[in-house]
Amino acid sequence: MKFSSNRPNEIDCYHCGAKNQIIINGIVKGISLFFLPLFPYKIRQEVNCTNCNSSLCLDEMDKPLRKKYKKYVTKHIPQFWHFGGLLIFVIIIIMSFISSYQTSKKITERLTKIEKGRVIEYETNSKMFSILKVVNVQKDSVGILLNKVEADSKYGISKIKYAESYSNDTIYWSKKELLEMHRSKKIIDVYW
Ligand SMILES: [Zn+2]
Repeated sequence: MKFSSNRPNEIDCYHCGAKNQIIINGIVKGISLFFLPLFPYKIRQEVNCTNCNSSLCLDEMDKPLRKKYKKYVTKHIPQFWHFGGLLIFVIIIIMSFISSYQTSKKITERLTKIEKGRVIEYETNSKMFSILKVVNVQKDSVGILLNKVEADSKYGISKIKYAESYSNDTIYWSKKELLEMHRSKKIIDVYW
């Protein structure tokens, strides 16, 4: 990928000697993913002549020749968009961290002030997933109805959500227990 191009008037071609025909291109090579540049790993300066079409990298030149052309090189280091893919990747990671932190905070708040009617999605002890409904709130405990259906993945919960196949027996869990479940990441969501 070309990132800079400079056409100095003063210099002549190292090959054919033509004046005003030299173009110096800064070229960056990088890793990319689906045409999205992740990061650059190699930068080279290419001296091209539009008269004789010869092309030579600054690194390939002998010392005096390199010295001659080096001062015309535009000192553009790779620009930020050469890291575009990496940048997007980092942003996605940071955003997913923020989002999971916010979800966790919301669950803590809702469990601390648990109210009648709340529905809780959770992971069971046998690593299945289900939902329960809060039907009674006492000082230290909550009365809940467990859903009789379990799903084998988090995403299966949406299927049982509307089945309303709650058990008829109210059982009591302590509020502490619910918060403990949240600490061990077994509560997936709390909502109405
Ligand atoms: Zn030339």
